Amino acid sequence: MRTVTLRSGNAVGVGKILCLGRNYAEHAREMDSELPEFPIVFLKPSTALLADGGGIKIPSFSSELHHEVELVVLIGKECRNIALKDAWDHIAGYAVGLDMTLRDVQTEAKKRGLPWSVAKGFDTSAPISTIVEKSAVPNPSELSLSLSVNGKIRQNSNTNKMIFSIDHVVSYLSSIFTLEQGDLIFTGTPEGVGAVVPGDILEAKLESVGTLRVHVEHAA
Ligand code: MG
Repeated sequence: MRTVTLRSGNAVGVGKILCLGRNYAEHAREMDSELPEFPIVFLKPSTALLADGGGIKIPSFSSELHHEVELVVLIGKECRNIALKDAWDHIAGYAVGLDMTLRDVQTEAKKRGLPWSVAKGFDTSAPISTIVEKSAVPNPSELSLSLSVNGKIRQNSNTNKMIFSIDHVVSYLSSIFTLEQGDLIFTGTPEGVGAVVPGDILEAKLESVGTLRVHVEHAA
């Protein structure tokens, strides 16, 4: 089983990785997409995880890898159909992650009405920082979030700009999927997404949570 590491040093086995699309209005706009009426959901396999310090491997069949910096939620206990007011009780912690996307593959899939699994779920497509326990993050709904490439800021926003708030997302997802301890939720990216190439260094930052540093390389 793939794991993520808590700040305490303990490891947690990861189950599902659920992801939100278009959860920041300015990002929907830059993608020429309509604002969603309800959350847009897709999944990544746990084999997509990449720990801090690792290398994101661009598959040979893609030539357009994009970064998407996101707040990531770790689910702490099993739940199904939870009410909005109870959603926070089921969260164990937070991380900063990257929803790495093969944009050329995704654009082609959108055009042809095909799933996004390849564009979003390839190996190393889910870099994630150390998880910080929720008690250390008093207000996850208002945290600055940024991504720099080779020291230049590309994305810079705040989690208060999410269209669907963290509690809403957890409650909504629990109406579709049984959420289990160790599931991760990528909550969507703000505007400023763009391409990276082999050799680039990515640094993602989330206030109160920390920093994630990874680089880009060709797949072997
Ligand atoms: Mg995303």
